[in-house]
Amino acid sequence: MRTGKEILVTRSSMPPIEEYIDMIKQLWDSHWITNMGTLHNQLEKELETFLGENYVQLTVNGHMALELAIQSMNFAAGSEVITTPFTFVSTTYAIIRNRLEPVFCDIKEDLTIDESKIEDLITEKTVAVVPVHVYGNPCNVEGIEEIAKRHNLKVIYDAAHAFGECHHGKGISAYGDLSIFSFHATKVYNTIEGGAVCCRNEEQYKKLYNLKNFGIQSEELVTDVGSNAKMNEFSAAMGLCNIKHFENERVKRKGVVEQYKELLCDLGQITFGINEDIEKSNYAYFPVIFETEELRNRVYENLAKNNIRARKYFYPLTSDVAYFGDKYSSMDLKRARYYSDRILVLPLYADLPSADVERIVLIVKETVQKY
Ligand SMILES: *Cc1c(COP(=O)(O)O)cnc(C)c1O
Repeated sequence: MRTGKEILVTRSSMPPIEEYIDMIKQLWDSHWITNMGTLHNQLEKELETFLGENYVQLTVNGHMALELAIQSMNFAAGSEVITTPFTFVSTTYAIIRNRLEPVFCDIKEDLTIDESKIEDLITEKTVAVVPVHVYGNPCNVEGIEEIAKRHNLKVIYDAAHAFGECHHGKGISAYGDLSIFSFHATKVYNTIEGGAVCCRNEEQYKKLYNLKNFGIQSEELVTDVGSNAKMNEFSAAMGLCNIKHFENERVKRKGVVEQYKELLCDLGQITFGINEDIEKSNYAYFPVIFETEELRNRVYENLAKNNIRARKYFYPLTSDVAYFGDKYSSMDLKRARYYSDRILVLPLYADLPSADVERIVLIVKETVQKY
């Protein structure tokens, strides 16, 4: 028997319905509902301002943003890309779907790629590094840049978790040759489904534009084997509404995170999986690391019995999903496997009531103390 009202790990941010209706009304005048419409172009501009970026290319989702960002680099098929297995499968699949080989690198205590292990994995086939600012924890961007420069590698950041963050004086998307965001409904900022590639120059921006629209440059000129990865107007409208509430939601999320930390800080056998050093966080996730896998699983099950859906992100590692069999099982991914076995992401969203946080914490505490 499951008891209590259901609490999911997250809940999509939505603007007041009147704001959304106001925004989409114009679509019934124009009948222009996709293919780089007015709202798409307006959102692109607003996000450029918000992020401090010069070239933001919107996409239909975060996965296609990453897949096309990698495609835009024109790497030779079979080239190797060094990446982290402690991420959502999208990161790994974007590499494989570009006919490239993922080479998995272990992670550090902050759960991001261990840059000190990258150089050992470089071969003559290595062309790029695809790190992830996992849970919004910034990678060692300076260290990675130095290695990439030394070995002439491209760096494409999967910043799907890091929207709205600042690190070492810059917006997080300022790092790397390209950075991508996801605006999926479950992310901290959403356009229902959506994503973006932050480009460094006009040439990259145009290339990505081309790739997201079948490679069509003009009515009679087709120059790339592109995809269809355009953001539609209803998504752009959601993005224009949600961006107005983002800072307010950031403050509310911060409050939830602080409540969790305060209530859990004196409990032994757990640590927090969030980087405290970040200049400006988005408070997207609240990951907790338990001392053992068994304890993590017990907490997960006890929460589930109370209809609370914590999630084992990221378990299994992307290198260990069933599709790969044991292809990567001999890779040295000790830390990644350690954390993957022990991590649990607790529910977090702007309007999560503080009484619910107390209830969640109580179950966590009881389980840990009985263990
Ligand atoms: C969500 C996510 C993606 C993919 O984004 P979608 O918008 O869902 O396609 C890619 N990488 C990471 C790390 C993610 O969490």
